[in-house]
Amino acid sequence: MPELPEVETIARGLAKRITGEVVESVWLSRKKEPLKSPAAEIAKMLEHSRIAAVRRMGKHIVFDLERNGAVRPTQEAQAGKSARPAQDKAQWVVHLGMTGSLLVCEPQTEIEKHTHAILHLSSGRELRFVDPRRFGRLSVAPAADFDAGGIEPLEVDLDHFISLFRGRKTPIKSALLNQKLLRGVGNIYADESLFRAGIRPRRRAATIPRERVGKLFHAVKEVLQEAIALGGSSISDYVDADGEEGFFQLQHRVYGREGEPCLVCKTPIKRVVIAGRSSHYCPKCQK
Ligand SMILES: [Zn+2]
Repeated sequence: MPELPEVETIARGLAKRITGEVVESVWLSRKKEPLKSPAAEIAKMLEHSRIAAVRRMGKHIVFDLERNGAVRPTQEAQAGKSARPAQDKAQWVVHLGMTGSLLVCEPQTEIEKHTHAILHLSSGRELRFVDPRRFGRLSVAPAADFDAGGIEPLEVDLDHFISLFRGRKTPIKSALLNQKLLRGVGNIYADESLFRAGIRPRRRAATIPRERVGKLFHAVKEVLQEAIALGGSSISDYVDADGEEGFFQLQHRVYGREGEPCLVCKTPIKRVVIAGRSSHYCPKCQK
C-alpha cells in the first residue's frame, strides 16, 4: 500500500509531467468499484479541463482542474471594461488504494489488464489508472473543495501536534494512524517515528510527557521527509505506485525487523498487534 512519501513522490512526478495538459477525452471501464463519483460526472468534469496542478493531500492525489466557462456579458463588459471568461475550477481526486498506479504513457503502449481509466491528453500522451485489486478510488469535487480530513503532518506546528494527543486514552500508535488527526501517516512511518522518539507503540497517548510528544513531532517529520527525499530520486518515466522499487530505501530501524537486534542497543526487536496492525519496537529504547 503506497504511504504518504510514495504518494508525494508520485504526485510530484505527475506534476512534472502533465501540468498544463488539457484532457481531451476520457475512457472509463465498466467496473464500478473504483468510481466514487458517477462515471458520467467524472468524464464531464475532466473533459476539456486543463490540469493546473497536481498535488498530494493526505494519501490522495489531487488534480486541480480549470476550464474556461462561457463569457458572461457582465455589466463591466457592457461598460466597456475587459470581459474575462469565468474560470470554473474543479478537482479530480485519486486514491491509489492497495495496488493502484497512474501511468503517463504514449498511446501505442499496450493497455495493461485492470486499466480502469484513460485520459487522452492534449500532448497526445495518455494518463492511465491501473488497479488490479480495485481498492483505489476515483472521484471529482466539482467545487474544488475536496477535504482529505485531518491535518497534514508535514505542515502541522508543534502546539497543534501536541494538542492532537492530549487526553487520548488510545495507544499512541493508533492515534498516529487515526486519519482524522493526522492524515497520511501509515504503519511503517508510525513505527519508525515512535522508535526515533523512544515511545512504545502501546503507550497511551495521554500519558506521554509533553517533551516526548515534541520529540515525536520532530521524528514524524524527519522520517517522512527522509523517505520523500529518497523516493524523489527514484522517479522514472513510468510513474509507478507499486512501491517495489526505490521507495523503501529508507532503512527501517524497527519495521519488519522482529527478532533482529536493535541498531542502537542490540535487544531483539519485538512485534505486537495494535488495532489489527503489526507494530515493531525495541523494548529497551522505547518506554
Ligand atoms: Zn534498542
